[in-house]
Amino acid sequence: MTVELAPLPAPAAGAAPRPRIFSGIQPSGIVHLGNDLGAIRNYVMLQYEYEAIYCIVDYHALTSTHDPELVRTRTREMAAGLLALGLDPERCTLFVQSHRPEHTELMWLLATVTPVSWLERTPTYKEKKQYQPDDINHGLLTYPVLQAADIVIYKAGLVPVGKDQAAHLELSREIVRAFNNRYGDTFPEPEAVYTEAPVVLGTDGVKKMSKSLGNTIDILGEPDTIRKQVMSMVTDTKRILRTDPGRPEVCNVCQLHRFFGDDYEDVWDGERTARTGCVDTKKLLADRIIRHYAPARERYAELMANPGEVDGVLEAGADGLAPMAAATMAEVHAKMGLR
Ligand code: ADP
Repeated sequence: MTVELAPLPAPAAGAAPRPRIFSGIQPSGIVHLGNDLGAIRNYVMLQYEYEAIYCIVDYHALTSTHDPELVRTRTREMAAGLLALGLDPERCTLFVQSHRPEHTELMWLLATVTPVSWLERTPTYKEKKQYQPDDINHGLLTYPVLQAADIVIYKAGLVPVGKDQAAHLELSREIVRAFNNRYGDTFPEPEAVYTEAPVVLGTDGVKKMSKSLGNTIDILGEPDTIRKQVMSMVTDTKRILRTDPGRPEVCNVCQLHRFFGDDYEDVWDGERTARTGCVDTKKLLADRIIRHYAPARERYAELMANPGEVDGVLEAGADGLAPMAAATMAEVHAKMGLR
């Protein structure tokens, strides 16, 4: 089944076209709080002002997941999650990376201007080598070149991402510069757009929240799961006794309260004066997260029960991008002496 998508409203005569933004997100299973606060909130906001293109990067996922069924399921889960959290297919484009295979062709072309040393020094490459020492595949090394291709194939100038992506984005800029220097001005240098929460720490309170570290709060999961995850959070490690004053500035639970209620200063005050204990503060946060995401959770369940609707959005998204991808490839072929 496919759904009919209303076309984007045409810009008024003489109006400047909306600037284009692009962002990719891995199909890493259910969406977590770090994804939402660090990136997806921006995706939703920016779709109203920009020509927004959002991509579920399944090619990237293959660098660490080799189970075909899992890749397929997680891709659909991520799409349903993004739609449930507010992406509106009438206002933005949502598609799956492998549905536009030009991304990988452009990656190859960009790889020919990218020194290997730039890739080897990427922090995420070094990290991933540690996480999966038995599977240091070539894709892990080349990941940032594919990421650069994802962005520039649509000539996007802005990229809403979390701060964990800063090094990758810097590398994309360097790759663009290397290409433009060799073949003439072709691509804009992409710039990051951060949210107010560019890095969300995980339930351990130390490392960035990440599916691969198992320290997530799964905002579209069952309320019981969310509650358990929030109650397991590490708070201010120096607050040992219930009567000890807390330090909201260093407590991850208190920091997250900033995003779930206007009264967070009162919550912080309760901690500082030991009027409230860490357990109370966590219970309140769990309640608020569960309540805040209740409508999204409901919509997510509906979409997962109706996968045809999700697949239709993704198909229409990839089809709509075909002319733009073809135009960029034609320009690049001509500049590089191909065809
Ligand atoms: P990756 O696994 O390549 O880091 P993801 O697909 O997990 O990327 O992340 C999708 C988006 O969510 C990216 O823009 C990323 O920066 C953002 N993000 C992920 N985790 C966090 C976090 N803990 N804090 C802030 N932003 C995050």
